[in-house]
Amino acid sequence: MLDAGLRVRSFFTDRAGGCSSGPYSSLNIATHVGDDPDDVARNRLVVADAAGALVTFLRAEHGIAVARIDEPTEDPPIADVLLTTTPGIALGAIAADCVPVLLHDEVTGAVAAVHAGREGLYRGVVDAAVAAMLDLRPRRRGTAGMSAAIGPAICGACYEVPEAMRARVGSRHPVAVSSTRAGTPSLDIPRAIETRLAELGIDPILRHHRCTLEDERYFSHRRGAPTGRHAGVIVCEGPGRRVGPGGV
Ligand SMILES: [Zn+2]
Repeated sequence: MLDAGLRVRSFFTDRAGGCSSGPYSSLNIATHVGDDPDDVARNRLVVADAAGALVTFLRAEHGIAVARIDEPTEDPPIADVLLTTTPGIALGAIAADCVPVLLHDEVTGAVAAVHAGREGLYRGVVDAAVAAMLDLRPRRRGTAGMSAAIGPAICGACYEVPEAMRARVGSRHPVAVSSTRAGTPSLDIPRAIETRLAELGIDPILRHHRCTLEDERYFSHRRGAPTGRHAGVIVCEGPGRRVGPGGV
């Protein structure tokens, strides 16, 4: 597991340490990819142990919906952003090439787990997540005290897409426009997310440059489906708590 580097307990899982087999080997935390449900349940307990709390994993739809979570659940509303201000609640964003993003607001103590892929980025999921965090502040006063971590995801040199798709996303996020090593059209979604978070005033932004397609420690939908999912996990510790980086 990779420490996300935020000031609350937060980390990104990888494939190691679970009990799933075959294409899901081994720490697959997704229930919707064809893995044995009992194995997934055991894997989720491994992640809960690392988080120090049961983790509520989001159910993505590549949209911009935000769901507030006040108690742990196996069955949260479908939403690409889960948000909480309840101490002890742990949230997880699942992915396998898409980008798990974790947000923390030290003013309110709010944390969010975000699933941001190409389509979610295009529709505005980064803005939706930050706006939902800002809405929790008593007075909507800038973003000072808000930080983010961008987890392992497919990189701009690997994420080949049709030219028209690159142009569409590039019309809203010019820095997403990229090329593969072979010179074909691609998208750099992590870079676009980092840029947008910076435009919104988030500081610091901790970007973990690990490409899920190239780094076999991670699940990658592009490298081979079916496969499992890893997760970005963040734990709410309430306002004003500063426990130092990590904890994992
Ligand atoms: Zn790559």
